[in-house]
This record gives sequence, structure tokens and C-alpha cells, in this order.
Amino acid sequence: MHLAVKSRPGLKPAAWPSRDKPPVPVRLVMDVCDAVEFDRRPVDEALRSVLAKQPLHDGLATFIKHAARSYLSIREPEPSMLPVAHWWVVQHVDQGVRELWAWGRRYRSADGAVRELRLIRLANMLERQRSEAEVAVAAYTAAYGRPAPWPDEWEKKFFVRAREEVSRVVVADIDLTEGLRRVLFDGTIEDAAALYERHGRRAAGQVLHGQKRRPGGDCLKCRLVLACDEVMRAPGLLGLRSDRRTKLRQVSITDLRYYASCPAQHYLQTLRLPKVNEYATPARIGQAVHCYLEMLHAKARGPCQHADMPGDIRWADPRWELDADAAEAGMRMLAHHPSVCPLEESTSDLRIEETFAFHDTAAQTLVIAKPDLVYRDDGAWVWREIKTTRRRQRGGEDVVTEFPQVALATAILGRGLLGGPVDGSRVELEILRPAGADLIMVDPSDPQELDKAYAVLRRRAQPWREDNTFAAAPGENCRTCPVSRWCPSAAETDPPPFSQETARGADREQPA
Ligand code: SF4
Ligand SMILES: [Zn+2]
Repeated sequence: MHLAVKSRPGLKPAAWPSRDKPPVPVRLVMDVCDAVEFDRRPVDEALRSVLAKQPLHDGLATFIKHAARSYLSIREPEPSMLPVAHWWVVQHVDQGVRELWAWGRRYRSADGAVRELRLIRLANMLERQRSEAEVAVAAYTAAYGRPAPWPDEWEKKFFVRAREEVSRVVVADIDLTEGLRRVLFDGTIEDAAALYERHGRRAAGQVLHGQKRRPGGDCLKCRLVLACDEVMRAPGLLGLRSDRRTKLRQVSITDLRYYASCPAQHYLQTLRLPKVNEYATPARIGQAVHCYLEMLHAKARGPCQHADMPGDIRWADPRWELDADAAEAGMRMLAHHPSVCPLEESTSDLRIEETFAFHDTAAQTLVIAKPDLVYRDDGAWVWREIKTTRRRQRGGEDVVTEFPQVALATAILGRGLLGGPVDGSRVELEILRPAGADLIMVDPSDPQELDKAYAVLRRRAQPWREDNTFAAAPGENCRTCPVSRWCPSAAETDPPPFSQETARGADREQPA
């Protein structure tokens, strides 16, 4: 639905919150490239001028310098290609699609017969393929789009110029981190039209007519955020004092964990700067176990059985890259799940890994939560979090205090935000160890538990909510920091960061 709203620029909400608008890294890189390609300015000068326009985090500035130089180092595979400032826009398409264009950088041969559209991404070109629909729309607009400047006002139509004679079209994918260019399409305009028929036309219509609402990371950008029923109003959920002058932000418990580790680490990740390093082994075990259980629960008719659990160390999806030792540990953890599996014949409204969005109108924060499972037991909601650990026993600390996800779940259920009665609802923490399993329950109707939960949330959220600079806090955490590559403070650590395992996803497990 967010995309459907986005594709209707004329749709204006009655109320639109004042939002924190962090800089957009790829936009800044494009500004540097524009200055070099259109204004013929030297790269260093272009960088200086773009970086001087607004105060930027040091880590972001490092990334922009790297990405702009990467891009400009590959910008001319065919030296005769000229940069094009105008967009290529197809108007009056069909199925309600009035205008179609693709975001990227554009080039043309001197006679205009050849066009190249470059789709830009920050990183991971080798890991995630562009969809067929993306390539088809890009090729089609490059083949048939008429040049047009970006409209002065976003909700206005493009003012397109005369059609140009084009015979050949190239669509390339650009990875700004590695400085790679990969050709996705190279063919005639007829080939592009055929590709659009096969993969693009339906997809474009689906975007425009999308009805499904999936709350989550896009809510903050969506014009319906204050009117959408999927975003539940929850004043005071984070336990902070009301301050309606602050701008709307978004946060998850994982964000707050990163923030506690290092504000810069959190901030650079929210900008989606490319990450280095892989998951740490404990995190990969946790992810593999979660995926296995998610798959089982999605097709289960009743509780998981011992026979459902893996009996061979090759059980895990290869993407988690578990060595024999890690696979064995995960297998032993899973063996204990049937004794604490939440599913029963009477379980209803089971939601697996569903994302919920809550608007804390006091803290002006969208709180995003993704429980491993929620379900109803006798009408009351149960919220289950699953953790994995190789520790033999858990320490004696209170689970609401130790696990901020449990604190958030307690606050959510304690207010009845999911609906239904609070009495009878509960938070369950399932801890899987190679030697056994624990199931610890928290009663959200207990005022003492609620007090503890709000204290935890306040302690975590307050410094984050008040922070506008997100300074680096170098230390031990640098060795596992996923954005250390862009952090100028990272070099202060010893041994140097990079190459080590990261704590990404660490909210899923406790370290061994
Ligand atoms: S490298 Fe260290 S100081 Fe820099 S963002 Fe990462 S954890 Fe923070
Ligand atoms: Zn189960």
C-alpha cells in the first residue's frame, strides 16, 4: 500500500507529521556525480561543495567520498556516452499507470540512438538480483521514454519533450561500494517492449493498485501514517515524557541495542550504509534455528514433534554457513523445542514473524516490533520470543530487565494494544540451549512487571530520543561493528576492526 500511495503524488493527507529526515546517502552521491558530469567540476571540488551544504555525520561523509569515487571510476565504459540530465518518461501507459520512469543515471550516444540507464544501489549487487519487473520497466522507459525535467512540484505531471529516435538500450546495475557495473539488459527497443509485456506491465499495475498494508520500516515515509489502522496509537509506550515538539522518528528494540553499543553504529545502519562482515557464529545459529522453526510453524497443524527436528548436521539453510560444530549446537537446541512448543490444537490467530507498528505519540516515535510468534490462548494474546544460547544455564537476572524485547512485549500486552483481554495474556520467553530449554513467562497485567518494563524502555529510549549527533563510541564493539568500514573512529581500536565477526542479529541469541 505504501508504494501505491507513493505512486500518487496528488494524494495529500489531512495531517502530516513533522518527521526527522535523515540525509539520503545515494542522493548525496548523485549530487556529487551531477556536479562532475554536468558542471564539469573536479571530483574533489564537487565533494567539498556537496559535503559543505549540510552538517553530515563523519561516517556518512566517508561513505559518500568512497561511493562517488567508485561510481566515477566506472562511469565511462563507452567514452562516447554523454550524461543526460532529463528523465525518460513514458506517459499514458495503461491500467491506470499514467506515467512511468525509472530512477537512475542516464547516458546517451552522441546521435541519441543508444541509451544507457544505470540503476544505482549502495551495495550487495552480487547478493541480490534485480527483479525481472525492475529490469523490464527500466528497459522500457529507456527505450520509449521522452526526455523531461523533474517537475517543479512533485505532484505535477512531467512536461515531456519530443520523442527521440532510439534503437538500442542498455540497462546496467551499479554497486557503489565495490564500483561494479553489470549489464542487465542490452537489446533493441522492440526487445525492451517485449520484456515489458512479459514482466513489467502487470507489476506496474500491481504497484499502483496495491491494497495490502504491511506495517514496518516504510510507515515513517508513508503519507497515511497518521490515518492508518495498522499503526496503533500508543502514547507513552516507551515510558518517556511527552514532547510533541520533537520530530517523528522510528525505532525497534534492535536499534536501541545498537545504540547502546555505539550511537554511530546505530545511526550509520539506519542510513542503510553497506555493512561489512558476516553474522557472528552465535547469531548465525540463532538465525538458522529461527528459520527452521518459522518454517515448521507455518505449516504446522499442532505442536512440533521430535520427529520434526533435524537428525543430521546438514539441517540448516546453507546461507547461514554453519560449520559442523555450530550445526551440531543448533540441532541440539532444536531437539528441546518440542517440549516447549507453543502450538496446540486450540491455538488460534497464530502470527509468525509479523511486524507491528505502534505510534508513541508522547515520544513522537514509531515503535516497530517483530515478535517470533503471537497467538491467542483462550482469547488472550500470547507473545513469544525465542532465544538461543550455548550457555549451560541462564543467569539469575530478571527476564524483563535482561531482554528489552520482553520489556516491550510486556508494555504492549499490558495496555491491550493487540486487542482482547489483558487478563490471561502473557509474554513467553523460550530459551533454547544445547542442554535444555527454558520457558519463562511474564504477566503483563502485573503492575510490578509493567513498572520494570517501562523502566527498561525508558532507560534505553531516552538517550536515543534526545540524541541528534550520534557520536562514535569506539571500543571493544568496533571489532564486530558492521559499519566500521565507514567510521573514522574505528581506527582508534586495537586490534583493528574489519574482517571479524559482527554482532548483527545479536538480539536473537545470547553469546555463548
Ligand atoms: S567502528 Fe566503533 S566507533 Fe565506529 S561506529 Fe562502529 S562501533 Fe562505533
Ligand atoms: Zn513448535
